[in-house]
Amino acid sequence: MVKLTFFGGVKEIGGNKILLEDNDTRIFLDFGMNFNKHAKYFTEFMPVRKCTSIRDLIYLGLLPNIKGIYRKDYCKHMGLNYKEETFVDGVLVSHAHIDHIGYLHFLRPEIPIFASKETNAIMELFSRTSAGAYNEYSQVSESFKLIPKKRGDGFKRKDKRDGMTKRNIKTFEYNKKFKIGDLEIIPYRVDHSLAGATGFIIHSSSGTIIYTGDLRFHGRHKEWSYNFVEKSSEEKPDIMITEGTRIRSTGIRTEDYVQKKSSEVIKKSKGISIINFPLRDTDRLLTFYYTAIQNNKKLIIEPRQAILLELLKKAGVKELPNPLDENLRIFYAKKGWGVIGRKDFPQEQYEKDYQTWEKEYLNADNIILSEEIKKNQEEYVMFMNYFQLNNLFDIMPKKGSVHIRSITEPFNEDMILDQRRVNNWLKLFGLYPEHHFHASGHASGKHILEMIEKIKPKTLIPIHTEYPGKFRGKAKRTCIIKENKKYKL
Ligand SMILES: [Zn+2]
Ligand SMILES: [Zn+2]
Repeated sequence: MVKLTFFGGVKEIGGNKILLEDNDTRIFLDFGMNFNKHAKYFTEFMPVRKCTSIRDLIYLGLLPNIKGIYRKDYCKHMGLNYKEETFVDGVLVSHAHIDHIGYLHFLRPEIPIFASKETNAIMELFSRTSAGAYNEYSQVSESFKLIPKKRGDGFKRKDKRDGMTKRNIKTFEYNKKFKIGDLEIIPYRVDHSLAGATGFIIHSSSGTIIYTGDLRFHGRHKEWSYNFVEKSSEEKPDIMITEGTRIRSTGIRTEDYVQKKSSEVIKKSKGISIINFPLRDTDRLLTFYYTAIQNNKKLIIEPRQAILLELLKKAGVKELPNPLDENLRIFYAKKGWGVIGRKDFPQEQYEKDYQTWEKEYLNADNIILSEEIKKNQEEYVMFMNYFQLNNLFDIMPKKGSVHIRSITEPFNEDMILDQRRVNNWLKLFGLYPEHHFHASGHASGKHILEMIEKIKPKTLIPIHTEYPGKFRGKAKRTCIIKENKKYKL
């Protein structure tokens, strides 16, 4: 018999953590962070305390209260009951957005993580570039441990440099069956705003289960999503766990639309063209890469994106440009002492301004500094998110420069506040009002309903949506889930 318990993604967008139990086999579908619930208590400046993190997050209902899944180093330190025997046989990861992988950090490293090669690459990017506080998705550094000092007597606190343990990541091939215990799983690539997004067909002892992860039908590779729907429909599934982020939205802006409209604006720009798009969305990066080429300009990216391109290339993604591509420039912003490019400081001094991972492209032929951008503004399309706006002081956009916002509309208080702050910067440098062209990573309401209609599941379980009620009557049976409740099928 199959049992499903939803520890997140219930009446909220993201935070998927679904426990699927089939006799003796147990897996999680994703293990993500619930942004909204998390933001009810924490901010960037009042984060979760590491020393008591798992205990506190369980108390808040943000982590499931299950023995035999959490890391030994954390459990021991926090006085939590540690069970040697591992409770789950693996985590099936749909894609590497934080609302799907964000809490993997807390799981013990021996639990197998099943993911696509691209997802693995993006998880590696988080570790390598030290983004986020709890980012040990690929490797784990044992915490709260004292080790003997190399020189002299006494002990020191162990840190990342003293060695990391690789997580047990098992990358799968799309369209190829694999087994976890009694479950048989077929992963299909789907189109979303992140490389490596996967939808799953799962054969269990109680029938076939479809898990869509996050997907859309208007992106660069909509055919992937349609293929997944086709294969799912052939299965005549019993259960379909579907995302429903935009069930109430009718608008369908495509990636082509973003490219066309942005190109029109960039063509008219008399100075620099500055674009804010999601840092890890390589489909969007590709959109602006092509837009730049169309307008005889170069696209400026940041070192983190260059590393992402390199990792995804290694993972087998062919359509992306090489980080050293002639139409790309890698921007090194002034940091620390800000001496990069200065003749009165030797190179070894400006290297000191950057972290180890940032130095990777410091000697590449296509790096660019703010002095050159300032001089020849009309030659460039530049990626710039909120955290980089202070570089505008060094660039001083000419009259006629443009700013394009290619990210989602602000949808909560924090985002509205952030947008106000961005507007202040844009006004300061004559870039206001900005242009806004964006294509969502999620299917529109119309496309979601068409997908359900085509797949025809016996039972429909809408998650990753604030409006599960909107799915009533869209399948033979619609199950509106309660969090933490076990559903027997
Ligand atoms: Zn999501
Ligand atoms: Zn997503």
